Amino acid sequence: MRLAVPREVRPGEQRVALVPAELTRLSAIGVEVTVLRGAGQLALYPDEDYEAAGATVATSEGELYEGADLVAKVLPPTLEEADQLPEGIALLSFLVPSVDLDLVRRLSSRKITAFSFELVPRISRAQAMDALSSQATVAGYKAVLIAANRLTKFFPLFMTAAGTVRPARVLVMGAGVAGLQAIATARRLGAVVSAYDVRPAAREEVKSVGAAFLELGLEAQEGAGGYAAAQSEEFLARQQEMIGQHVAASDVVITAAAVPGRRAPLLVSTAMVSQMRPGSVIVDLAAGSGGNCELTRDGEEVTWQGVHVIAAAELAASMPTHASSLYARNVSSFVRLIVKDGRLAPDFEDEIVDKSAVIISGSVHHEPTRSDLEEPKA
Ligand code: NAD
Repeated sequence: MRLAVPREVRPGEQRVALVPAELTRLSAIGVEVTVLRGAGQLALYPDEDYEAAGATVATSEGELYEGADLVAKVLPPTLEEADQLPEGIALLSFLVPSVDLDLVRRLSSRKITAFSFELVPRISRAQAMDALSSQATVAGYKAVLIAANRLTKFFPLFMTAAGTVRPARVLVMGAGVAGLQAIATARRLGAVVSAYDVRPAAREEVKSVGAAFLELGLEAQEGAGGYAAAQSEEFLARQQEMIGQHVAASDVVITAAAVPGRRAPLLVSTAMVSQMRPGSVIVDLAAGSGGNCELTRDGEEVTWQGVHVIAAAELAASMPTHASSLYARNVSSFVRLIVKDGRLAPDFEDEIVDKSAVIISGSVHHEPTRSDLEEPKA
C-alpha cells in the first residue's frame, strides 16, 4: 500500500498533507509513503526529513504516482491536478463537493474514489480525523493576531505610571471551533471578550473559555448533528438590531458564523460598521462563504469610515507548520481506518467511511452532490 503526497499548487497554499513525524504511524500499518520533491518546503518540512523518516522522495508527478494506491492532499485538486491522477486511485483531501461540480465530474471520469474531510461526521470516534476542526483552530487563533496587529491600541489592561490603558473589547460572533479559539486567544492577550452564537450549547462553551455570552433572548432554529440551522430573515434582522450596540462598543469584531452548505449568515451590516469607532477592526472568517459582514470583499481589506474590514479566508495556510502537523494527524487517522492488513480496503459499511466518500470508483456516492449533478442546467 503506497500513499502519495503531492505539492499543493493553489496560490497562497503553504500546507502539506503529511509531515515526517506522522510516518511512523503509517509504516506501523504497512503504508509506504512517496512525497513529491519540495512538497513540505513551504511548511518547513524539508525532503531530507521525509527521507530520514522512511519516505521516498519523487522528482516528478509520474514517479510520485507510480504504484500509488492513495493520494493525500490539503486542498481540492485543480482540474489539471485531477488529470495527473492515475485512473482508479483513491483521494483524501478537502473537496467541498457541492461547490466544484466540474472537479467531481473529472474525478469520476477517472474512476477515482474520493473522500472529503468536510464530510467526516462529527462523532467522537472521528475526532482525530476532524480536519475542519484542526484547521479552524489555527484560523481562530490567527484571526485574533491579525486584529491585534491592525489595532492601534493594546489588548490588555495596563496600569502604569504614565496612566491606565483600558483593555480592548472584542466581540466574537459564531462560537464554533474557530470562534472558541478566537475567544481563548483574545482572552490570553488580555482583552475583554463577549460572544454570541445561535446554538444553545454555545452558551456554556463560550463561558468556559472566559467570555461573556450575549443574551439576546431570541428563539433560534435548532440544527442537526451539532451544527446550526439557517435562521429566518426575521431572526437575522432581529439579531442584527440587538447586536448593533455591542458591535458599536467593540474595538475588534471577529466573525466566524457558518451554516454548512449555505452562504454565511449576514450578521454585521454596513450601518452597524458605521457606528463603530474609527480604527476598529473586523476580521471576517466567513469571507470564503460570502462573509458575515456586509462590507467584506473576499481576499481584500476594506476600510469603511475608518473601520478596517479584513476578509480572512484560508488562514490556516498562513501558519503552515502547525496547520500541516495537525492535518497530517487527521490524514494518518483516516488512512488507518481505510487500510486493512497492509492493503487499501475501505469498509463502506463503516459510518465514517460511508459518509465521507464523495465518489466510489467513479460513481458519485454523496447524495447531495449526485442530485446537484443531475439538476438540469438553467
Ligand atoms: P461552523 O463553522 O459550521 O459554524 C460556526 C458557528 O457559527 C457555529 O457554532 C454556529 O452555531 C454559528 N452560527 C451559525 N449561524 C449563526 C448566526 N446566525 N449567529 C451566530 N452564530 C451562528 O461550526 P464548527 O466550528 O464546525 O462547529 C459546529 C459544531 O460542531 C459546534 O458545536 C462544535 O462544538 C461541534 N463540533 C463537534 C465535534 C465532535 O463532536 N467531534 C467536532 C467539532 C465540532
